[in-house]
Amino acid sequence: MLRTHTCGELNMTHAGQEVTLSGWLQRSRDMGGLTFIDLRDRYGITQLVFNLEVNSSLCIEARKLGREYVISAKGKVAERSNKNPKLPTGDIEIMVESFTVLNVSKTPPFTIEDNTDGGEELRMKYRYLDLRRGVNKRNLELRHKMAIATRNYLSDQQFIEIETPYLIKSTPEGARDFVVPSRMNQGQFYALPQSPQTFKQLLMVAGYDRYFQIVRCFRDEDLRADRQPEFTQIDCEMSFVTQEDILNTFEGLAKHLFKTVLNMEMSDFPRMPYDEAMRLYGSDKPDIRFGITITEINELVKGKSFKLFDDAELIAGINAEGCSEYSRKQLDELTEFVKRPQIGASGVVYIRYGLDGNPKSSVDKFYSPEDLLSILTKFSARPGDLILILAGKEEKTRTALGTLRLEMGKRLGLLKPGDFKPLWVVDFPLLEWDEETLRFYAKHHPFTSPKPEDIPLLETDPGAIRANAYDLVINGVEIGGGSIRIHNKDLQKKMFSVLGFSDEDAADQFGFLMNAFEYGAPPHGGIAFGFDRWTTIFGGGDSIRDYIAFPKNNSGRDVMIDSPSAIKEEQFRELGIKLAAYQLTSLPTATLPPTVNRPT
Ligand code: ASP
Repeated sequence: MLRTHTCGELNMTHAGQEVTLSGWLQRSRDMGGLTFIDLRDRYGITQLVFNLEVNSSLCIEARKLGREYVISAKGKVAERSNKNPKLPTGDIEIMVESFTVLNVSKTPPFTIEDNTDGGEELRMKYRYLDLRRGVNKRNLELRHKMAIATRNYLSDQQFIEIETPYLIKSTPEGARDFVVPSRMNQGQFYALPQSPQTFKQLLMVAGYDRYFQIVRCFRDEDLRADRQPEFTQIDCEMSFVTQEDILNTFEGLAKHLFKTVLNMEMSDFPRMPYDEAMRLYGSDKPDIRFGITITEINELVKGKSFKLFDDAELIAGINAEGCSEYSRKQLDELTEFVKRPQIGASGVVYIRYGLDGNPKSSVDKFYSPEDLLSILTKFSARPGDLILILAGKEEKTRTALGTLRLEMGKRLGLLKPGDFKPLWVVDFPLLEWDEETLRFYAKHHPFTSPKPEDIPLLETDPGAIRANAYDLVINGVEIGGGSIRIHNKDLQKKMFSVLGFSDEDAADQFGFLMNAFEYGAPPHGGIAFGFDRWTTIFGGGDSIRDYIAFPKNNSGRDVMIDSPSAIKEEQFRELGIKLAAYQLTSLPTATLPPTVNRPT
């Protein structure tokens, strides 16, 4: 037998038993006549002891073993004289009587410890060694726990998990498609799904009224900390439901995950209309772990000869409570912060509410102390507070303030780890106008239904239409989103035409869906959650990469297997792709179908 127990389970109740353990050599120490080896497997670490006096040749052999050797050791469980309360197995050790080397190991390029000396690049190249580290193991265990809890909950609610294909035709979700050439249909390509959106809708037409799938999705977009070219969704769809039913069902799922994975009882999630989220938090994914909402002050500051404010569409700010004594340097840092290109504000106007009750601002030239006090009142400020004001175009100023708000939350220590504040953001606009291309894009995707009362606006004012679309947000992270769908062919057709599709293009790309709608499509709606993101939030991590077994780096590469990589000429030939054609960098754009979402 290669093992009778794991390295994580032995304790004083096993004292005196003869056991065999197998695992990796974590570290060894020679202490005079004794040699200690920490043996590690997935379940924990157990101390092995070799005694030079009792069995000198065995002890000498043991001293030759290197880090990460795989060994199997047999011996008796004994009480330790020097107990380690930090280890579950810390009360015992194994007095080894014999061992076998199952495999040798080169010295690993970095230490297999939680605090390793290996940099990211090196760890990714040797990901199989990196995954031996406790932190990564705990992350993957958490992910597994989330997946099982999700399946159990949804299955109990009559959802069935159905797999949908990976080799499909484009599903527009706002990103570029990954494409796969077809050998059997030369010159033609599959697209990998950006999500199973159209298939899950077809499953509703087919009558599978509660579907889910923990499923891989593929989007060819620029990567950031919380993006991967392939990522996993908990994808769900239901028939005969209203938005209310969906929110309740999936709030149930979220509460179940909080309970089973984090042992947290959550009260009902607040719901916030999109407009309010933008107005108060400058974001459609507000972090509501802390207050500091945005206050608009146009009417108080315009007409006082301060050009920046007079020219601005919106003048608004936040109250950084208790920060009136911020130094010049701290204020300069905030100015630099908002001037970064990602935010693009021209600067910050501040008003200090002195502890003596007197205001002092960076615009004293234009505003009297009374003016300033009335602004402070609008912010419900108290002596000791600091008001930070931005001005400019409406949308941009709101989002800039949203980012500044988060920065202040961070600086003031208000983003407490372990504190979870979920909410639903509802009533999203259906469409988004793009100034560059001068056309509408779907805010969510083109299958989202307008609110019934807003349908007439399709003809008159498409930008004002609200959708039955919703997002689940936790601590400022969009965890999931979905919508009630269009299930009527004519409305779907109309929607494509608002999005700039010709009838032929719409029929070519989505004819199958519109045809299906002619065969008794039930009203339906759904949602999809970013599984990697959700796990990362629950794990308190910064990057989804840490919760994916084999992630890609920021350039979309897997540095371990070295992919993507060139393929053989032979493979091109089989696919009927001429090398010269493949190497062309620009194809005529006219051959590309219109996109329905603005590329993200
Ligand atoms: N397919 C959508 C997405 O991937 C989610 C949904 O509408 O259910 O974002």
